[in-house]
Amino acid sequence: MTEKRLHLTNNSRIAIIGGGPAGSFFANDAIRQAKRLGINIQITIFNSKDFSQRGPSGCNMSAAVIAGTLHAKLTRDGIILPESIIRQEIKGYYFHTEEYGIELYKPDQTTKSSIMAVYRGNGPLYSTHTESHSFDDFLLNHVIKQGVTVISETVQDISLSSNINTPATVIYGKGDQRNKMEADLVVGAFGINSNMAKKIENLKFGYISPKTIRTCQMEIPLDPAFIKSSFKDNIHVFALGIEPFRFASMVPKGNYVTVSLVGSRNLTSNDLIDFINHPTVRKNLPHNWEMPEKFCMCLPKIVLSHAKNPFTDRLVLVGDASISRIFKNGLESAYMTSQLAVRAAFEYGISSEDFAGHYYKPARKLLAMDNRLGEIILAISDFITRQNWLVKARLSYVEDKRGSWIANHLNTLLWNMVTGDAPYHKILIQALNPIFQIKLIPVTIKALAMDIIKRVFHLNDKK
Ligand SMILES: Cc1cc2nc3c(=O)[nH]c(=O)nc-3n(C[C@H](O)[C@H](O)[C@H](O)COP(=O)(O)OP(=O)(O)OC[C@H]3O[C@@H](n4cnc5c(N)ncnc54)[C@H](O)[C@@H]3O)c2cc1C
Repeated sequence: MTEKRLHLTNNSRIAIIGGGPAGSFFANDAIRQAKRLGINIQITIFNSKDFSQRGPSGCNMSAAVIAGTLHAKLTRDGIILPESIIRQEIKGYYFHTEEYGIELYKPDQTTKSSIMAVYRGNGPLYSTHTESHSFDDFLLNHVIKQGVTVISETVQDISLSSNINTPATVIYGKGDQRNKMEADLVVGAFGINSNMAKKIENLKFGYISPKTIRTCQMEIPLDPAFIKSSFKDNIHVFALGIEPFRFASMVPKGNYVTVSLVGSRNLTSNDLIDFINHPTVRKNLPHNWEMPEKFCMCLPKIVLSHAKNPFTDRLVLVGDASISRIFKNGLESAYMTSQLAVRAAFEYGISSEDFAGHYYKPARKLLAMDNRLGEIILAISDFITRQNWLVKARLSYVEDKRGSWIANHLNTLLWNMVTGDAPYHKILIQALNPIFQIKLIPVTIKALAMDIIKRVFHLNDKK
């Protein structure tokens, strides 16, 4: 049995680096656990972003879709999203390939919790609203109300003593100013767009930050009536099967549409322009639409793998800086890793051994192992979406057979792929379902034959 060497006790101090969702979720759960144990804990969150700002400077850049599963957990925890934060309730998804599109519907109509589109910061640059729209600010205020202190400054470094009984030191401040705070436990919730990861790696206890890739996002201002009638409260996802795009989405948010692009390499603003000008994408914009002169855009990183050893004595990392599901529900991963880390810290202790056995191990089992399967599924899906003949034939077959078992099965499969509602291992089981695969054989053979004939005639025409 693990020897419990370090514990949180009455008046222990927790310093959280990062006031994004992972930081707030950790604080929220830590307060609950401390109450349960009847101990007083002092929690300080350091946050370098000012969420009252519009545009990237006040925003933890993301498509900002809150999955139905996370929304249900927040509601259960008493974190009720106010109307000022919800930009749009999402009814479903519209799945586009280069030549075909299909509306997906929620497979399990009994689950009540809705998917919500929000802003992480205080809305797009150049927007003119008056009330605060920031989801991250709302979460931070939720924990402030429960006694958490927020210091709006950047943490420059942390120092850990070789003597396990000496508290950690957090060094923070603006410019050349350096302030120090001692903490019994430091929580790294600084995400992947921060230079803190390098500093933690330099502590040489074995932390290796997640691999990342640069994505591209834009906020398109549009007439709300147009958005309502064109998007019909659906998120539009695009699997165009063309390089460099792997996934793309357009999320309706009242008077804006958020475009998010993930590629097979680091994306640039030129890729954004190419995407917007693709005919399949242009169909979703007004016919006379032109790229505005000034607009809100950003190039945030997204995780491609999980961190190694995100813990040591008196230090634990959560959220994107630790383990997240790749390309799916990063916010919910932040919630899960924070809960696991809180549980390990309060129920077992805050030594390296406690975090290894009661945080890292279960977090890897829950998220990292599933990511490996996710990579395989995404590679297969990338390959399939490049075969236009196959995708078109399968989707149109399913559209024709709406209401049948096979149509429902494919709808569920695609729904789980785009929403992340199910883990990747469940998606793989659904995809490999023998009845599903057998039923698709005749459709595939017919489509292949048609494609070959088309190619032969095209070649003959050229001659
Ligand atoms: C293009 C794109 C689209 C996405 N879409 C979605 C989506 O629709 N739904 C979803 O669930 N997830 C989505 N994600 C993932 C999601 O954004 C992340 O998983 C989530 O933000 C992780 O939360 P976090 O708290 O770990 O990190 P972050 O949100 O990055 O927060 C980190 C915080 O730490 C602060 N910080 C950093 N360094 C310091 C420092 N040195 N001192 C003090 N403070 C510091 C920052 O100011 C920030 O507030 C998307 C990601 C990308 C890139």
